[in-house]
Amino acid sequence: MKTIQTLLLACTLPFFAACGEQKSEVITPPKSETPAAPNPAVAAILAKADAVDGTTDKVVHKCAGCALHMDGKAEHSIAIEGYTMHFCKPACYDRFKADTAGEILKLKVE
Ligand SMILES: [Zn+2]
Repeated sequence: MKTIQTLLLACTLPFFAACGEQKSEVITPPKSETPAAPNPAVAAILAKADAVDGTTDKVVHKCAGCALHMDGKAEHSIAIEGYTMHFCKPACYDRFKADTAGEILKLKVE
């Protein structure tokens, strides 16, 4: 029994140490250009939009700027709510970049 306890201790201690190290590293100043607060409504639409391209891989490959009818490109991508959105052209990208959450909420996903 004692060996199990020692093993557990040996396993958990380095884990916590690594965790503490990571936390101190993540002190980055908040970017003013992305005021994206967690938004369940946005996440729900993103989940549906993600499925439109046939794979639920957290990448919305269809261009949301074109009502998900066009294929997007990785070079025009926006990250939001844990998803990556691909846009077909800079104009679509710019529109969503200006108000990503607001534009997603206007999106109709069939
Ligand atoms: Zn587009």
